[in-house]
Amino acid sequence: MNVLPMARRRTTAPARTMTGRPELEALARRLSMPQAVSADGSIIIESLTELPTEHGTFDVRLFRYGGGSEEHLAISKGDLSGDEPVLVRLHSECFTGEVLHSHRCECAQQLAAALEAIAAAGRGMVVYLRQEGRGIGLANKLRAYALQARGADTVDANRLLGLPDDARTYDQSAALLRHLGVSAVRLMTNNPAKSRALTDLGIPVVDRVPLVVPAHPIARRYLETKRDRMEHLVPDDLQTGVGRAG
Ligand SMILES: [Zn+2]
Repeated sequence: MNVLPMARRRTTAPARTMTGRPELEALARRLSMPQAVSADGSIIIESLTELPTEHGTFDVRLFRYGGGSEEHLAISKGDLSGDEPVLVRLHSECFTGEVLHSHRCECAQQLAAALEAIAAAGRGMVVYLRQEGRGIGLANKLRAYALQARGADTVDANRLLGLPDDARTYDQSAALLRHLGVSAVRLMTNNPAKSRALTDLGIPVVDRVPLVVPAHPIARRYLETKRDRMEHLVPDDLQTGVGRAG
């Protein structure tokens, strides 16, 4: 009784499909479940895949932290474990900058520069954190932009709305770095507070790597505020992007 179905499959389906499909189905079943959980249970790696990008091919992990619903991402290259410090950027998402290429900030350029540095080094990771608008969320960030359009700087706009200057946290990043076996980091940031936060969370920061990128002249006031009121290290000339398309 088996002869007929077997014969039919053999004539209609290429051999590759006959052997490949069960493998893909088995892989799909495995991928449908979390790929890894950290020893303390705080980090769940939901998925892991390679992703070719214009900056190179990266391993992309989607992870959740502490039972939260935020889908954070780790975009990495190379083996991150071992004694050698890892080039790391903790990058908070920016819809306006990264998707709309807003001139109000330099987030998209910083993300690109970080990925390019990691690709060039052959080893490193961007932790892409879902904390839009320095953690206040997109709606509040756009409210703050409305105040900035009327003359408030980025700090005053938040305060007028009753919001913190910076609501970001990095405990999820420290837990992820620990889970991936990262022993120390070279942190790509202009923000010394970020280095201190990660150190306080138990991840040694052995070096701070400045991430200076050309920014649009419209971002000048934002960068000046970050330098003057938020302790960011920004060069005096602010790299305002001479020669960039407006
Ligand atoms: Zn931004």
